Order: sequence, then structure tokens, then C-alpha cells
Amino acid sequence: MRTEDAPLIRLEDYRPSDWLIDTVDLDVSLHPQKTRVRTLLALRPNPEGQPGAPLKLDGDELVLKSLAIDGKPLDASAYTVTPQALTIPSPPSHDFTLTIETELDPSANTKLMGLYRSSKVYCTQCEADGFRRITYFLDRPDVMSVYTVRLEAAKAEVPVLLSNGNLVAAAELPGGDRHFAVWHDPHPKPAYLFALVGGALDHVRQDYVTADGHKVELAVYVEPGKAERAGWALDSLVRCMRWDEQVFGRNYDLDVFNVVAVSDFNMGAMENKGLNIFNDKYVLADPQTATDGDYASIEAIIAHEYFHNWTGNRITCRDWFQLCLKEGLTVFRDQEFSADERSRPVKRIADVRTLRSTQFSEDAGPLAHPVRPRAYKEINNFYTPTVYEKGAEVIRMLKVLIGDDAFKRGMDLYFERCDGTAATIEEFLACFAETSGQNIDHFARWYEQAGTPTIVASGRYDAAAKRYTLDLAQSTPPTPGQAEKLPVVLPITLGLVGAKGDLPLKTASNAYAGDGLVVLDQSSLSVTFDDVAEAPIPSLMRGFSAPARLDLDLSDADLLRLFSADSDSFNRWQSLQSVATRALVTAGKPGADADVLTATAGKLGEALQAFLKSDALSDPAFAAQVLRLPAPADIAREIGGDVDPDAIFAAHRKLSGAIGKALLGELPGLRGALASSGAYRPDAASAGRRALRNELLGLAALAAPAEAADLCEEQFAAGDNLTDRLAALAAMTLIPGERREALIARFAEAYAGEPLVLDKWLMAQALIAEAGTLERVKTLMQHPAFSLGNPNRVRALIGGFAANLTQFNRADGAGYDFVADIVVALDKTNPQVASRLLGSFKSWRMLEPGRKRLAQEALSTVARLPNLSRDVADIAERALA
Ligand SMILES: [Zn+2]
Repeated sequence: MRTEDAPLIRLEDYRPSDWLIDTVDLDVSLHPQKTRVRTLLALRPNPEGQPGAPLKLDGDELVLKSLAIDGKPLDASAYTVTPQALTIPSPPSHDFTLTIETELDPSANTKLMGLYRSSKVYCTQCEADGFRRITYFLDRPDVMSVYTVRLEAAKAEVPVLLSNGNLVAAAELPGGDRHFAVWHDPHPKPAYLFALVGGALDHVRQDYVTADGHKVELAVYVEPGKAERAGWALDSLVRCMRWDEQVFGRNYDLDVFNVVAVSDFNMGAMENKGLNIFNDKYVLADPQTATDGDYASIEAIIAHEYFHNWTGNRITCRDWFQLCLKEGLTVFRDQEFSADERSRPVKRIADVRTLRSTQFSEDAGPLAHPVRPRAYKEINNFYTPTVYEKGAEVIRMLKVLIGDDAFKRGMDLYFERCDGTAATIEEFLACFAETSGQNIDHFARWYEQAGTPTIVASGRYDAAAKRYTLDLAQSTPPTPGQAEKLPVVLPITLGLVGAKGDLPLKTASNAYAGDGLVVLDQSSLSVTFDDVAEAPIPSLMRGFSAPARLDLDLSDADLLRLFSADSDSFNRWQSLQSVATRALVTAGKPGADADVLTATAGKLGEALQAFLKSDALSDPAFAAQVLRLPAPADIAREIGGDVDPDAIFAAHRKLSGAIGKALLGELPGLRGALASSGAYRPDAASAGRRALRNELLGLAALAAPAEAADLCEEQFAAGDNLTDRLAALAAMTLIPGERREALIARFAEAYAGEPLVLDKWLMAQALIAEAGTLERVKTLMQHPAFSLGNPNRVRALIGGFAANLTQFNRADGAGYDFVADIVVALDKTNPQVASRLLGSFKSWRMLEPGRKRLAQEALSTVARLPNLSRDVADIAERALA
């Protein structure tokens, strides 16, 4: 379908469903090509809907086999049916049951939405609108039903049968070849949370007793032979369940909680009630096949999906415009969990890096949209960093603005008041208005207005009066459909740093900032601090208190002083990032004078050397973050227009190499001190030491390639864990030559048969910033480890290439053409993965004219094709608009 033909769905058009479905009885007989689904719906008119309205059920590529009302077959004249819809123009005016039989071919379902088979395992994905690919239904989140699901299958092929809720019956059928299981979920839920799984699976299990004394059987199901890799996921599950009891007072509410890992999955994971289905990338871990980053992601995503049980499942969304209600809030919750489990400052820095690279870039391009969009053609294209990551930042700001206590009471009130409902952002915010006594109408603008605000700050010190004045102003650039922007509420946490650390904040002459919080809620604001004994350096947006850009003109000397003296870890890290960013923005413009880099490299090298000598070993994870410069793509976004990726990359390499040279003397001693003794452990402290050790290796690869190549080979040979071996490979990819190719080959040999590890191998090669990479990627598409049919492989190799700033953005446009061709090929089988990949073009408008024209041509070629999916057509259309 062309998007011109697709209806634009608008928030303001919402109205309640005319019909409700109280119970759903599903009877599913699993078969690889002919799965029979018999659905019994108990329907009743919605008192809030239109009386006498027709019944219109959603479908998607469905084949209807039979239809009955109250058990009596329905005459063909009494309904109309297409693969996309089932309409009964004159349904009974009272409660009735509808029995629908459909037949599905799970093996042919390459879209991976609805019921499909992944490596012989039957599984489902129903968010946002996959349930309509299983049966005709009122597929909208505000229709909530109690489900009973009977699954039947051949016992040898499908020994494990799982669905939502609790197991209530299971037995062999006469003859012994087939068996069945019946699952009942007592909690009403929308169809997008339905799930079933059937297959031959191993599992690990553990009993858990909730804080309110309820016994729960936890299990993690994985492919046969991989059970020993499921332990970390199970351990993470137990820890996050306890945390949610302690921090949010939330207990689990069923007798079982199952997690299943599948190898073909469009997303990260899915929070189906009591039956979370995961991309196996976010479940399977052992030291040989998962990195420290994987361990941390698994912990975070297991927690995220589990936390949805309350924020998403018990309280769901009224409509898909409210997606951020469950996603922003749940990302906030999982970030807090990881911060408590690991290092809070390091977690914050990592989250802000992600926010800036993914969300700020989205906000700056043609795909920008508000945290709560007002209209969409394809909802699957709105599972974005804006809804998730910026949505979480909005919650974090709310907490800062109203304080921890009112925030906690507001959450309690929300859980109490909205439990069992399909809620809206307004209902959520009302809870916090009530507990804080504050009017938060203005704050709610964060949900409506797209774009990243810029805060312009400058300070003046009056030595005679001992007074410091801070002038603040805000503005937000236009975004598609929103030319004019209004001021938003910006919490700015701050300190004034003197020679000996933070100065006391006294604000006798105005009401602000005594507690280090200034709220900028108008276009501009001046705050005056009294009794300031010396000229201070302002430390603004501590902990990154708002998802905004800060434009504060501090000298390098002041920033370096903040690095050594600021009490806020985030701003210590930020100060060096700011020094590097300023130099790279200057030097990254075509024809720029590169001298600025020499001076900056000297300053940064000196500061880092002192830091590594004195501080690094006390918090290696933080030190690793400090050493890592902003990425070239961050610099491109800062430059914002007429971007030449090659010039930015060259400047970045030059600065990194010079800093690496300055630190070479520290390297052997530090790497020795950081080397681990004993077996691999995935804890945060051990991971931090590896992170710093490997960050140093990366710098060495640029500063002293020949010596670093020795280190890479040694580390690969001696490494007892994937973290160190992959870091050796990644550093070696920076060193062109035969030794690199040899290590690439050795890596593939060592991990043949480990698809998730080979994904990292594919990606490491796709990211090589050299002219030969496109050919390399094309060759790798023929490698047995690659398949266009598996989303993880596509994201690793093609997604990796599309994230390669210089090679995707080749001056000859070949990178754009290649990715566009893959998008078109993939769109025929898996539109969701194809449209995500097309999203790689989101920053094309900021490029210099030559590349801009070529990117536009590639996008236009895609957009002009007939028979595009709605997913891809929507992205192409918006990117070009
Ligand atoms: Zn989620």
C-alpha cells in the first residue's frame, strides 16, 4: 500500500470502541504451514460507544474458515470479509459470542509479526498490531480481555507449549502423538500482549517468593543445548523483581513468569504478560560468547520487560499515541535499576551518549516528532529514541522538578488509580500534580513539542558587590510541522565552582537556586547569587538535568578546571568532552586550520595524563568514559549543516592519535595494573577495568600501530573472554594491513557456529572507516554467517555499515545506493527491519551539497517504487518532505 492511500491516524480523532470483548478463548492447533486458530469472543456493546454500531474487526493477511454467532454459523450475506477486515453490519444489539476460525502459515511469515516460526520454534509478536494476523479482532489497546488459550501440537516436534498467565491443564491426546496445554491469564489485557510459544526448548528455572509472600516459578527457555547460557538472564530477573518491590513497591502477580529466547526477532524483546519473548541476543550469555556490554544489556532489558508488568501491562495505553506512557516510564525505571546495580555516574554518562547520538540526531532531522506524536500512518515507525529515551528524560525531569517524595507518592497514586485501565499521559501527569500541589500543565509541553532546546548561558561576576549573575535563555529550532516553538520547562541543576570546590549558593535577591536548581520556564531568565567570594566557574546541567544542548562559553582553562574540581561526575566528564567538541567542530569543517587540534591535543593529553596517574584506578569505568572522545557523528550533528564527513573524521583521527601519543608512556603500567587475575567475572568493577584497559588499546592502535598490533594479537591469543578478544579485534581494525586480515580470519575460525558472536565480527568490519569497506561488506553478504532473513545479521552488517559515517556517506553516493537497494530487497519480506534501516538516512539534510543530492536521489528512488510497504513508504516520504 502506498502511504498516500494509508489513512493518517490522529490523536484528536480518538473515540472509544463501540464494542468490548470481555473474554477470549483461543484454541490453536500448531502446524508448520496450516495452523488452525479457533477464537471465541464474548462481545458486548460498550456503554461509551455508539449504540447499534456495526462490528468491524481488524485483520491482516487472514484467511477466514468459518464464522458463527452464539454458536450458529453466520450466513454469508450477514458479513463481509477481506484479509484486512471482517465486518458485521447488523450485529445483535445485546451481548453475544462470535466464533472465528482462521488458518495461518507460520513458516511463510517472514514479517515476524503475528505467529511465525524461528528455527522450528513457534512464537508470536503482537505489538503493535500483530494479533490481527492471528485472528480478526478489535486490535486496539483499550479493548482489554481475559484470555484462555488452549495449544495443541505434535509432541515430538513441539514438546513445550507456553502462553500468558498460569498453566491450568496439560495432557496427551488419545494416540499419544499429540498433546495440549491450557493457559489462563486472569488479568484483562489488550491483544498486543498476547503470546504463545511452542517448540523443543531447554530451560533453567528458579522459585521466587514475592515480598507479599506469593510463590512464583521463574523460567528462561532457550534453544536446546544453550541452557547454561541462560543463567545470567535468570539471575538478572531475580534481582530486578526484588528491586521493583523495594523501590516502586511492585509485586509480581502470577504463579509463573517465563522468558523465551528466539533467534529471529524484529526488536529487542517483548513484555507479553507472564511470557516475555526475547531476541536471543538479550538472553544468552557466557564469558566466551558475550561481552561485558552484553551482560549489562541483558540485565537492563530483562529488567525493562519485567518492569512493564506494571508500567504497560497492569496499566496499559489507551491508544498508540500514548506509547511513551509505557516506554518512557519503563526506560526510566530500567535506567534507575542499572544505576543502582552498577555505577550511577557511569550509567548516566552512557545513557546521555546514547540519547545524544540517537535522539538528538532524530530531533535534528526530517523524522523529528514529539514524545507523543499527534498523527501517524504507521505506528511501527514510532518505536523511536524520542518515544523511549527522550520519554525517559521527561520523567527524570519531572522527578527533579517536584522532588523525590512527591514523585514517589505520584507513582503510588498512579499505580493505585490507573491499575487495570488503558490510560493517557494526562491521567499520569494528574497524579503528580496532585501529590506535588504544583501545576504541571506547562511541563506537559515536553510531550507535544519536538526538537532539542538549546540553553544559552553566560555569567557575570561583580567583584565589588561579590555578586554573580547568570543569564539564561532558551530556544528550540523548528521541526517538521512545528515552525514556531514555545519555551519549555527546563530544570537546570547547577553549582558554582571556586578554587577549592563548590561555593555556597545564596540567592537573597530572588527565589531561585538555593538548592542548586534553577527552573528556566520562560524564554530567558537572570539569576543572581549573593556573597560569592571569588569569580566562580558555573557548572550547569549537573547530571544532565534536561535533554537540551547547553551553549556556555567557557574557556578551555575553565573547562579543564571543572574537570579536576567539579563535584559532579557528569560535568567532570562533560568538561573534557566540551573541550574536544569545540576543537573538532572548528577543525572538522572543510579547509579548516588544523592547528587548533595540536593545541587542544596538548591540553587534553596533559590533563588526561595527570588523571590517569592519580585517579584512573579508583574508578576505571569512569576513566574509560573520560578517555573516549565524542564520536565523529556527534561532531557532525554539532556542526549541523554543510557537513563533510571526511573532514570531521580526519580531524577526529588526528586528535585521537595525538592524545594516544601523549598517553603512550602510561600505557604499559596501566594495562598491567588493570589486567585481571583469575576467572572472568561480569560484575561492574571487573567490567570497568576491562573497559579502561581496552580503551587504552584503542588509543594505542592510532598512536603506535605496530606495537599495538602486537598487543592485539597477544590479547586475542590469551583472552579467556569475548570482551577482551573482541576489543583486540576492534583495535586491530584500526590498523590496515595483513595482520588485521589475519586476526579477522582467526576470529571467524574461533567463533564459527556462534551467530551472535559473528554478528560482532560482521559489525567490526562494517565499521572500518576505509574506502574498501563497501566491497568488504558486499563480500561478507555471501559469507555463510550472513542471512538477509535474520534481523540480527542485517542489523550487524548492513546496520553497522549505515552507521559508518565516512563510508555510508561516501562522496560518490555508492553507500547510499547500496543501503537503499538492501532496503528495497528486504521490504518484500520484512518491512519493519527495512524501514528501520531506511531510517539511517535521517541526517541527510545536514550534509554538504554533493552528498545531500546523492542521498536525496537514493531516497527518491526508493520512494518512487510501486508496492512499497507502508513502513518503508512512510519513512521515505517523511525523510523527503
Ligand atoms: Zn518497552
